[in-house]
Amino acid sequence: MITIERVETFHVSLPVRRAHKWTGLTEPIGGYVLVKLTGNEGTIGWGEAPVLKDWGGDYGRYYGETPGMTIQLIHSYLAPVVIGAEAGNIAELHQRMDGAIKGYPYAKAALDMAAYDLAGRAIGVPVWMLLGGHARDSIHVTHSIGLLPIEEAVRECVQVLSEGIRTIKIKVGVDPQRDIKIVRQVREAVGPEVDICVDANQGYSNPREAIRTIRSMESYRLKYVEQPVEGIARLAEVARAIDTPVMADESAWTAHDVLEIAERKAAEIVSIYTTKPGGLFRAMEMAAVARAAGLLCNVNGSVETGVGNRANIQLAAAIPGIMLSCVVPVSTPAEAQKGQMAGIYYKDDLIRAPFIFSEGSIKVPEGPGMGMDVDPAKVARYQVKSHE
Ligand SMILES: [Mg+2]
Repeated sequence: MITIERVETFHVSLPVRRAHKWTGLTEPIGGYVLVKLTGNEGTIGWGEAPVLKDWGGDYGRYYGETPGMTIQLIHSYLAPVVIGAEAGNIAELHQRMDGAIKGYPYAKAALDMAAYDLAGRAIGVPVWMLLGGHARDSIHVTHSIGLLPIEEAVRECVQVLSEGIRTIKIKVGVDPQRDIKIVRQVREAVGPEVDICVDANQGYSNPREAIRTIRSMESYRLKYVEQPVEGIARLAEVARAIDTPVMADESAWTAHDVLEIAERKAAEIVSIYTTKPGGLFRAMEMAAVARAAGLLCNVNGSVETGVGNRANIQLAAAIPGIMLSCVVPVSTPAEAQKGQMAGIYYKDDLIRAPFIFSEGSIKVPEGPGMGMDVDPAKVARYQVKSHE
């Protein structure tokens, strides 16, 4: 039996390729917490908590963590119950963590994915096998355009299409007139074939404003509109009034949320993260409820470093339901970067080898655990010594 013997945390900060902002976000991406677990046989597993203090659920139902909070939570409350746990017994790991402290899904997600990584490596199988198998062997990548000036956004869209991207997500939700204009200009620049989605991050002030804005965008063909307003009831109001499918993101953190979204017909698609529900184990539960309710899903995240994106790839591979293109970065260390923008948000990364990206998709790795190795030298280089 492999037991977890040691829990270490690292606060890192990766340099960004360009500022990546969305409605409500006030801090830079990439200042996240890594967790390293060591088993009694010396096997190692890594996880990540992409903590952002100002990204959360509807009406304070779920809320942000900061690196300092997450590190303290892990060492004061979670590590004492995780140490001594059986690495592959993920159900019991969650029971222990939930018994120690309620909530804090980001900290728990980091430990969950590190435990999967450790268990997979210890027994020599990929994490997707521990999750039930792989429903697909590559993951279509959606490239996310943050709140950028329109001309810069259009330039980036044109480049990423030439690099193989077939789905573009545009951050909106600040100013309806600007939002309609950017969708029109991107559609004119990219042509009719490419899928365009918009994500308002709850930014429209009420359903009426959202409905009016989305209706004006619909002639440019939107694949879906993500979280136009805050709250499940309001999402349902928007969903009833527009033709484009609605995706729930901030409204969908847990399997229970998915049930409520389905019951209230608030969305046709749910965005599943490894982190929102507290790890891969819980994310598979969300996917199961979505599938039973006839909802589509995709895997999305908080622009994790390669450490966390390894888990997002495993999740996107394993979910058996209908999987739309995923907003998973193409994590690439500096040595392997050659000017590609598609799926790249950081100037460097914390994994030894780049994700394999071809024809707009990331190949699902077949190696044990997360299938890709973390580079400890890079973790040390980007480690932040003082955390708030
Ligand atoms: Mg979103």
